[in-house]
Amino acid sequence: MVLRPKVLLTRRLPQPGIELLEKHVDLSINPLDAPMSRQNMIMGIKDKGGVICLLNDRVDAKVIDAAKHLKIIANYAVGYNNIDVQAATKRKIPVTNTPGVLTETTANLTFALILSAARRIVDADRYLREGKFKGWAPMLMLGNDVYNKTLGIIGFGRIGRAVAQRAKGFHMKIIYYEPVRLSHEIEKKYSAEYKSLDDLLKESDFVTIHIPLVESTYHLISGKEFSLMKETAYIINTARGPIVDEKVLVKALKERMIAGCALDVFEREPEVEKELIAIPNTVLTPHIGSASIETRIKMALMVAKNVIAVLVQNGRAPNTINPKVYE
Ligand code: NAD
Repeated sequence: MVLRPKVLLTRRLPQPGIELLEKHVDLSINPLDAPMSRQNMIMGIKDKGGVICLLNDRVDAKVIDAAKHLKIIANYAVGYNNIDVQAATKRKIPVTNTPGVLTETTANLTFALILSAARRIVDADRYLREGKFKGWAPMLMLGNDVYNKTLGIIGFGRIGRAVAQRAKGFHMKIIYYEPVRLSHEIEKKYSAEYKSLDDLLKESDFVTIHIPLVESTYHLISGKEFSLMKETAYIINTARGPIVDEKVLVKALKERMIAGCALDVFEREPEVEKELIAIPNTVLTPHIGSASIETRIKMALMVAKNVIAVLVQNGRAPNTINPKVYE
């Protein structure tokens, strides 16, 4: 009998991914519909050849060291700030993510948040449900327009560009910031103009963040950055919470340095700053950027294919973020 590779799945994923995996590997699935405790992860990973983890599983050197036979760490997300990639690379373990398949879905949520913040959709819904709607009124729930406004995109990668594509349909002026200016072709394709971060913050009516969380982007948006923004501007974050200094954001909102914010991600998830909840001009969603049925199935199939490529086909995982491990 041929022994099948053992894989730990830290939380149940959409069924098509599970079915594909179960054809090829011996799958241990966390039985709880809750994040796996650190202790259980360390115990569970010990005899496994692969682990499929989530963005809220901290896979650090201690977890990696506990797994003497580990050959792949497959993250069910495009961001991978939850994994100590350096420690994995040291052990020649490929780390994979799920790029591309969630781009459009996350861009859709970003645009929904832009519109919700500007047009007070959540606020208005709450008002109506509370029985306060007494008829059309000239000054009822006045928000701000989105069309013809300036959209500042921090991080013009896959999701940033997909947001720009949508903004074109709203006749927005698109400006972007990247550490290195992009080619003329890309700028032309998205009608996007390059700006320094400071200029982007000064000129934008909506600032939207689409960069990875790494050491250099931690608290990238803090006191100085909010002070540069227009009093009428909104900030939208669907990237990672710690990129924005949340305490300073609360202060900026309270002191009306900016008009409002829409956040899908938080600095200490799942904890959310109490004051952010209390402030009315915020739209807050529970990290649902990629949460469409279609996209979550694509992500599940993608992680499954990465695991199978390494553990079953003894090849390279198609979405490896540390390809050095194959050298
Ligand atoms: P990507 O790699 O295609 O794009 C990221 C871009 O940011 C790149 O172009 C990169 O050059 C740029 N960048 C890096 N550091 C920067 C900096 N300091 N300033 C400006 N630009 C910088 O990634 P993507 O697929 O577009 O995803 C972006 C991020 O969105 C992911 O890292 C992930 O954390 C987050 N995300 C969140 C959700 C969600 O559920 N809310 C869903 C998908 C992705």
